[in-house]
Amino acid sequence: MEKRKFKKTTRSSFGDKGEDRGLPMRKKACRFCVDKELRIDYKDAKALKPYVSDGEKIAPSRISGLCAFHQRRLTEAVKRARILGIVSFSPLQKAIH
Ligand SMILES: [Zn+2]
Repeated sequence: MEKRKFKKTTRSSFGDKGEDRGLPMRKKACRFCVDKELRIDYKDAKALKPYVSDGEKIAPSRISGLCAFHQRRLTEAVKRARILGIVSFSPLQKAIH
């Protein structure tokens, strides 16, 4: 009984889901919140590139590590850039160009 109780407390002290799988859950600080000088610019293809995957998808916030506010800004910027032809809509489109 005593042993079991101990086991239970150690498990609960592990906390979040990620750590159960051996992955430490560390909250990434939003890049744009940390550095106020940094701006999300839809005209800057190089700045947007790390947030667009090989399949030309916009990275979700759990990958990009951005806060909700900046994730929305980023999404908007990528979509604008797509319309302007700076970022492609699909990998197929990329192959044509
Ligand atoms: Zn932010």
